[in-house]
Amino acid sequence: MEYNPDLPFYKRLHWQVLAAMILGSLAGVTFGEAGAEAIGWIGELFMRLLRMIIVPLVLTSIVSGVASVGGGRAVGRLFGKTLGYYVVSSFLAASVGLLMVNLIRPGVDSNIVEASTDPMLVDTPDSFIQLILDIVPINFVGAAGTGDMLAIIFFCIVFGAAITTLPERPRVIITDIFDAFFKAMMALTSGIIKLLPIGVLALITRMVGTTGFDAFGTLAKYIATLASGLTIHLFITLPLVLYFGGRLASGRPISPIIHFRNMLEPLLVAFSTSSSGATLPVTIKTVREKVGVSNKVSSFVLPMGATVNMDGTAVFECVGALFIAQALGADLSFMTQATVVLTALLASIGAAAVPSAGLVVIFIVLEAIGLGGNADAALIVGAMLAIDRPLDMARTAVNVYSDSCGAAIIARSEGEDHVDAQVAVG
Ligand code: ASP
Repeated sequence: MEYNPDLPFYKRLHWQVLAAMILGSLAGVTFGEAGAEAIGWIGELFMRLLRMIIVPLVLTSIVSGVASVGGGRAVGRLFGKTLGYYVVSSFLAASVGLLMVNLIRPGVDSNIVEASTDPMLVDTPDSFIQLILDIVPINFVGAAGTGDMLAIIFFCIVFGAAITTLPERPRVIITDIFDAFFKAMMALTSGIIKLLPIGVLALITRMVGTTGFDAFGTLAKYIATLASGLTIHLFITLPLVLYFGGRLASGRPISPIIHFRNMLEPLLVAFSTSSSGATLPVTIKTVREKVGVSNKVSSFVLPMGATVNMDGTAVFECVGALFIAQALGADLSFMTQATVVLTALLASIGAAAVPSAGLVVIFIVLEAIGLGGNADAALIVGAMLAIDRPLDMARTAVNVYSDSCGAAIIARSEGEDHVDAQVAVG
């Protein structure tokens, strides 16, 4: 993708994608289910193209990135900064959720249990220890085959680190090979990104055409609470984190406006696909080429971030679980609320980067506050599922944005001064 300042606006990708979203919404409203069925498969095809490139892109990006970091200590330093950022930003997100749910109190006096009809049947995820065990793959090819992201990332990081310990000749050969593969994957990503407007048009038509609006009324207060939490995190908390994080990292703040404008495309893709995983190729490409972060940093922060750093999901877990607790008249003591914040963090780490994953892991939070086996709680989750898609779209965009903010701040702390120096047009 070349960034050409002379390009007329209608040839710029993010405007095309925005136009596709508007057209898709109109088509969805006009043609309903029929429209969704007619072109929904094109959206599916586009999602498949994106998902097709995730494993090879992440593999080559991490190995070549980590190999270029040089030395185990540098790897450890980057890893520490990355995890530190994830914890801080997700904690802030859960706190925003907590604040909003206590201000608006969406569950108090709601008649949601009577209004919901479908009990939600989901598998409760495995324990947290299992989550950690699963990070180490027994078989790398198996992990790559099933797209098990954390296991792939773990292998690539230790493999890349091992490369840095090799003698000069084999090290240069293997690094060059992975670099070359990575360049080829980026070229493929660019090709697929050109199809964005078509993919987005189909995805939005399908979403609008198939979502019923009946359930929205009873859950209006919950929707308003979550939407305001996500908005505050996206437009107030994360910009502040960028500004002050940039200053702390490099003595110079990062402009939230420049960063936001540079990140428009991945945000729109996250919104349309509801999957941080499927958006990852677009995120990697944009953060490298528009935000200006090196492969060394982006390969560390983004793939892992797409999988474990989910700020939007953390806001959601907090709001969702406390909404249910309020609706059931459950105990809302300080301890309960603190437990919700902590487990919301864990649940957001455990949620997969796919549509509606956040709703599945809400049972981790409910379990922790004694509502895990509660049939009424399951009923409410069922009602929340009915209207989850648009909310999932919004929280996925927040998830992706937090990753890119982290990449920009960490890159600055590594001396990459040109990061977010300007809006990259094109
Ligand atoms: N759909 C979200 C994502 O992929 C996860 C969630 O459901 O909260 O980031």
